[in-house]
Amino acid sequence: MPRMSYTRSMANWHAPLGVSFQTTDHVLTSGMWWCAVIWLGFFGGAVGSFLTVVWDRLGTGEGFVLPRSRCPECDRPIRWYHNVPVIGWLLLGGRCYDCGSRIPFKHPLIELAFALLFIAIGLSTPWL
Ligand SMILES: [Zn+2]
Repeated sequence: MPRMSYTRSMANWHAPLGVSFQTTDHVLTSGMWWCAVIWLGFFGGAVGSFLTVVWDRLGTGEGFVLPRSRCPECDRPIRWYHNVPVIGWLLLGGRCYDCGSRIPFKHPLIELAFALLFIAIGLSTPWL
């Protein structure tokens, strides 16, 4: 857990796969720590969201980036603020805003899994 301000020694950190880093001790404020964790969570969530789209569109001949995300039932495009990882699904109560059809639970689940994975990777580095 973050303290108001803390330093972390690199002495007992071992990078995986024999990678070595030139690092120095550093100071992170609690605000910076939370900022980094939240950013990692959103970034991981976005990666998970993209991978879910790739999964859904594999073999359909559709592009992975375009066309924009839309509801498979009513075909209406998903508003950007409903497409925020995990939070969009929660806001909508797991249903399409336009037609009310269920949005599969795999979407928030994969987004959350990747958000946590990215945070875990971040926390296992000497920088957080
Ligand atoms: Zn719909």
